[in-house]
Amino acid sequence: MPPILSSIIRDEIKPIDGASDSQLSAIDGIAKEFDLTVEKLSEIVNHFCNEMDKGLEKSGMTVAMIPSFVTGIPTGNEVGTFLALDLGGTNLRICEIAFEGKGVINVKQQKHKVTENLKTGPANQLFDFIADCIDKFLSELVTVQFENDQSENDKKFKMGFTFSFPVEQTAINKGTLIKWTKGFTCPDAENKDVVFMLQEALKRKEVPVVVAALVNDTVGTLLSHSYKDPDTLIGIIYGTGTNGAYFEDIPKIKKLNKYSNDSEKMIINIEWGAFDSEKKVLPLTMFDNKLDRESNNPHYQIFEKMISGMYLGEITRNILLHLIDRMLLFDGYSSKELNRHYSFETEYMSTIEADESHALDDTKKVLEELLNIPSTTLTDRQIVKRVCQIVALRAARLSSATLAAIITHCGRVESGSSVGIDGSLFEFYPHFSARIKTALQELFGTNADKIKISLARDGSGVGAALAAMLTTKK
Ligand code: ADP
Ligand code: MG
Repeated sequence: MPPILSSIIRDEIKPIDGASDSQLSAIDGIAKEFDLTVEKLSEIVNHFCNEMDKGLEKSGMTVAMIPSFVTGIPTGNEVGTFLALDLGGTNLRICEIAFEGKGVINVKQQKHKVTENLKTGPANQLFDFIADCIDKFLSELVTVQFENDQSENDKKFKMGFTFSFPVEQTAINKGTLIKWTKGFTCPDAENKDVVFMLQEALKRKEVPVVVAALVNDTVGTLLSHSYKDPDTLIGIIYGTGTNGAYFEDIPKIKKLNKYSNDSEKMIINIEWGAFDSEKKVLPLTMFDNKLDRESNNPHYQIFEKMISGMYLGEITRNILLHLIDRMLLFDGYSSKELNRHYSFETEYMSTIEADESHALDDTKKVLEELLNIPSTTLTDRQIVKRVCQIVALRAARLSSATLAAIITHCGRVESGSSVGIDGSLFEFYPHFSARIKTALQELFGTNADKIKISLARDGSGVGAALAAMLTTKK
């Protein structure tokens, strides 16, 4: 008897030519472990809804539900020119963003590499470097002139700052760095206000810029998509990591007591990567547990580890090694490359899933040329493709659960909503978006057709500038 799988896996399954009974039964066993029935999905949706409520009530909860202090929703009619600064990894990016109304946006930008020296030296040195780059950008690319009769304060550019590190935010333009990540270690920056440090550097260098807003990349994605589509409710990142943000009614953010503002809505940065770190509902397999145990943050970001670009390849690698050890793949031979942690990149999975050639030629290249497996049969390659499908399908179905939960939480099942998504996994992984939609149909029936999902590129630039603009709108 084949295992009973949710419909989508059955629809996608193609026969594996020449597979032995033990190979077929091993694959079926793995498929079953990774399967997410609609009943299981509903259970996850319910648990996520409860966790959202908890996070809105108290700080320090597993799903942190961090208030962004971005209030107000862009209408798409806003007009004006603002700057954006994006610091979060390899490059520093400075943009001038001209909003022209009717959802039209013009962007100019410059990028600078952040050297090791800057990432690890004194914080002042890093922020002085940023101020110099902004100064250079203003003199080379910015053409806006201030009128003589404007006040001194009006003669400054307003800038939004996307800072993709963990921050405890206390106001739209105030946030304390909790911990550096991604190779940054400037020793004297932790526990300090990053906007203050940047503003001081701008003062030292006499650069006429006011840092008006500090945002996270999910918040930026939500804002930039809202400018084009005012029906937008949710912004999501499926990239190296995964996270989401949405518009919440301010009275529902119970932990924000004493906060008063004329606006009705505030963006919440959910921080959903940490969802169910207690392992109550997520269907973790031995392959997930192995990845977690061997990661540099065991027990943290359990949900993210089942979904995002940084991890899908590693889950797949764990399964392939398991099959090799049971002599069910590559005749029992691995390679030095495949044995190395994180060597099987999520991008390879994209290539393999997109490979529709009869002999799976691209898959052969990935396995034999990039990973140095001595030789592969068509059966091997079909098995590898099936494994990629199984892992990525679960990721997409889990992704549908948080989306469904937010839509339910906000009472938008019947009325529908738009969702803006950024990140390479969403942009490039074959069928990722279609698989999310299928799962939403299983959960919501025809109401799923009212959910519009689209790619929202460059939230960190446009979104930060919009956040700066919204501070001047009141
Ligand atoms: P970030 O999240 O760091 O801002 P991206 O959105 O570009 O950057 O996401 C990078 C992640 O996306 C990497 O972890 C990588 O595994 C994954 N990725 C990059 N290219 C592809 C691809 N073609 N298919 C699937 N995943 C990809
Ligand atoms: Mg990004």
